[in-house]
Amino acid sequence: MRSGWCPHDPSRSRQQPTAGADAPPHLLTARRGDMDGNRVALKATAYHAGAHVGEDELLPADPRCPLCLATEARSPVLQVQANPDVHMLSCSRCGGFSASRLPTGQTLRRYYSRYYVPGGPTVTFDGPVRFARHLIGEAGPFLHGEDVSILDFGGGGGDLSRAVAALLLARGTVRVGIDLVDYQSAPCQPEGEPIAVRRHETLAGVAGQRFDLVMASAVLEHVPYPRPVLVDLLAAVRPGGVFYARTPSVVPLFRILRFLHLRYDFTYPAHLHDLGQTFWERILPCLERDAASFAIVRSRPSIVETMFRRHPARTAAAYVLKSPWYLFPRHYRLVGGWEILIQRKPRAARHVG
Ligand SMILES: [Zn+2]
Repeated sequence: MRSGWCPHDPSRSRQQPTAGADAPPHLLTARRGDMDGNRVALKATAYHAGAHVGEDELLPADPRCPLCLATEARSPVLQVQANPDVHMLSCSRCGGFSASRLPTGQTLRRYYSRYYVPGGPTVTFDGPVRFARHLIGEAGPFLHGEDVSILDFGGGGGDLSRAVAALLLARGTVRVGIDLVDYQSAPCQPEGEPIAVRRHETLAGVAGQRFDLVMASAVLEHVPYPRPVLVDLLAAVRPGGVFYARTPSVVPLFRILRFLHLRYDFTYPAHLHDLGQTFWERILPCLERDAASFAIVRSRPSIVETMFRRHPARTAAAYVLKSPWYLFPRHYRLVGGWEILIQRKPRAARHVG
């Protein structure tokens, strides 16, 4: 495995973040707080703030799709920044959307460092336990035995995977091992605890290992070049195990906002890719590896990440927007986020990566 993923930072902020502005939790620790009350523009995620990125902070445009490496021309579908212009490009092969210009690594480091708050909460989710219940409801049937191993990619301090582990223990699992891949440090459990946490800065730290559950919750959209990361994450799923991902899918909704001349904040450069239903249901063959070893278990609008108590307006809007999909699952796209559960088939032990 080779993939790390790079956090970041920009020098000029279009919207100066407030003291409690939520940041990039899976990458760094961030305070959560008063975002909603201070913003009028609809934001792609509740936990990031967009920032303007200058020409010298951007990489040259790359004609290839960073998701599937297709070289076919990609159509601009949504402007996320002006001067220099940055658009989300639609890939006809994989169905994903990616920014036409990616920030440099230095830009991203600067962007995230300005929001970094050591010791703060680290998840892009209002209720880790609620998320854990949801995930166990989906992935639980695939997590058997006394020992369960979890790879939590971009999980910050591991709040979500620890909550998942606690629920596993409550339902009979004896020991849970969590390998947490993130730039920020995570405290390790004392020896003898039923939940053991090992921290790694990059996926290279878990090279060759296989896990019962591989999680990438609200992180792949921040990785400038997600394809090798995705390949490595799938390769890390043991036969019979599952891969879970949650990603934003806001481009269709924001195109309507733009048409109506309403404000929106795509949260660029934190948010570089927009990965919805089409992407997730096409990407396995696009990886050009052993797609037949994997099967999609669940593909649907993501669980609402906020709670009424903390973000009432955003939470209500999320539920309203996601609902029509259940009536029109092949056509309705205004879902805001997507989640996917993929199983590596039990009898197919060949690797994706
Ligand atoms: Zn593509």
